[in-house]
Amino acid sequence: MAFKPFDLTGKVAVVTGGNSGIGLGMAEGLAAAGADVAIWGRKPDKNAEAAEKLKAYGTRIEALEVDVSDESEVVGAMAECLSRLGRIDTCIANAGVGGGAPLVDQTTEQWRKVTTVNLDAVFWTFREAARHMVERAGAGDPGGSLLVTSSVSAIHGAPANQAYASTKAGVLAMVRGTAVELARYGIRANAVLPGWIATPMTERLQSWDAFNEKAIGRVPMRRWGEGEDFSGIAVYFASDASRFHTGDSVVIDGGYSIF
Ligand code: NAP
Repeated sequence: MAFKPFDLTGKVAVVTGGNSGIGLGMAEGLAAAGADVAIWGRKPDKNAEAAEKLKAYGTRIEALEVDVSDESEVVGAMAECLSRLGRIDTCIANAGVGGGAPLVDQTTEQWRKVTTVNLDAVFWTFREAARHMVERAGAGDPGGSLLVTSSVSAIHGAPANQAYASTKAGVLAMVRGTAVELARYGIRANAVLPGWIATPMTERLQSWDAFNEKAIGRVPMRRWGEGEDFSGIAVYFASDASRFHTGDSVVIDGGYSIF
């Protein structure tokens, strides 16, 4: 019998922030492995360009204009995905924003801007996907995978980034609680912790010589990560290959954290 644990044919995935960077790399992996994929983002032009790229893999692709910092938009978008694609097997809460300032200068407004997208929205996204998955389990079809894009800033000291780092650490606790709570329905919850990845979010750092020398020079793999470096982990956590893997945090940083 053929062993095809990474075949996602018939599965449906939602990727928030799937129109760019890490999320697009994840969405590409999922589509290439056979999944139907819905990507969410605020910017229609980025959504359209990403959807065009994803359609090349031949599965059903939907791009939704969603601002995840608005709870009602998250609720509405998840319902819309269900209506368009019929089910949701994997939900990746990946949308995120940076934005830091020295602690002594940081305003509550700056703090909330980051925490709303990176923490509150993950809660809303997970909750809405989980409501569908739990209901489906009750109807005799258990299973589902929730994945969040955290960051190594959850475990490293991240100066002038208290809000960002707090959200990325917060989602790790969210994942562990969710994993224990929803295991009875066959639903898994995990987190991915990227290191330094070349995406629009890190554009400024990519052209900063001192940063490249001191930080990227310390990455054992000796390079910036790319969005495509996250295709594999997305496929793994969406697939039956990870059916007993839950509550975990996987670091993908070219070895930066252990050097
Ligand atoms: P990116 O290319 O800038 O992608 C960010 C994505 O989030 C975009 O698709 C963006 O789409 C979406 N987004 C932002 N705010 C949103 C909102 N309010 N509503 C809906 N979508 C929103 O950056 P990235 O590096 O791939 O970031 C993806 C995730 O990885 C983030 O959670 C980030 O914190 C995390 N991360 C990145 C790195 C890194 O080095 N790059 C390291 C660790 C963790 P729109 O602009 O269309 O809204």
